[in-house]
Amino acid sequence: MQFNDLGLDQRLISKLNHLAFYKPTEIQQAAIPVGILGKDVLASSKTGSGKTLAFLLPAMQRMYRCKPFTRRDPRVLVLTPTRELAKQVFAQLKTLNAGTPYDGALIVGGENFNDQVKALRKDPMFVIATPGRLADHLEHRSTHLDGLEMLILDEADRMLDLGFEAQLRRIHEAANHRRRQTLMFSATLDHADVVSIASDMLNAPKRISVGHSA
Ligand code: ADP
Ligand code: MG
Repeated sequence: MQFNDLGLDQRLISKLNHLAFYKPTEIQQAAIPVGILGKDVLASSKTGSGKTLAFLLPAMQRMYRCKPFTRRDPRVLVLTPTRELAKQVFAQLKTLNAGTPYDGALIVGGENFNDQVKALRKDPMFVIATPGRLADHLEHRSTHLDGLEMLILDEADRMLDLGFEAQLRRIHEAANHRRRQTLMFSATLDHADVVSIASDMLNAPKRISVGHSA
């Protein structure tokens, strides 16, 4: 199985080849075809199995079909439990969006709030954020999620363990429209809080579990 077999746009395939990524990992093989069909996904696989590309590739592909530079942005929001993880996702995004108009902003705690307000006012297509800081920006009205097309929750179980449930629900409410696609990744799918938030935020998700019996 190659990236070519997953229905990905040739522009993405050539970026992946450039990065010397030829073979999709197991979670990528399972999640990418579902993601690019626009369906919701609830997935788990172990650390280091390549989940970041499993959600960023469908997101990039969806952006290819959008007109850039509109007041509807942001279109894709990725939430991660920690600043460090958000930075890693942002770095991976940069390898994919280089040379495209699909710009991104990194919105995490511990960084200057007003600089982030300025970055958000530029209507980035992608926002990679931690839930606490993003919820602060929604409160402050430095961004809106009216045009959000994809909400991606990375390490949802850890976000819930860190006490971000209220912020996740607030973000979900701010971005709650029929067009929205939601991808949720979690180390485990039987965590009670994950089950509860997944049933509220996902629409008939495809469940994918790789590498363990859950
Ligand atoms: P996870 O989120 O599941 O812990 P990551 O998305 O952080 O995993 O990926 C782990 C590492 O594997 C990263 O360095 C990433 O660049 C690399 N990687 C991801 N997909 C592939 C692939 N298809 N081929 C080779 N390396 C990959
Ligand atoms: Mg990860």
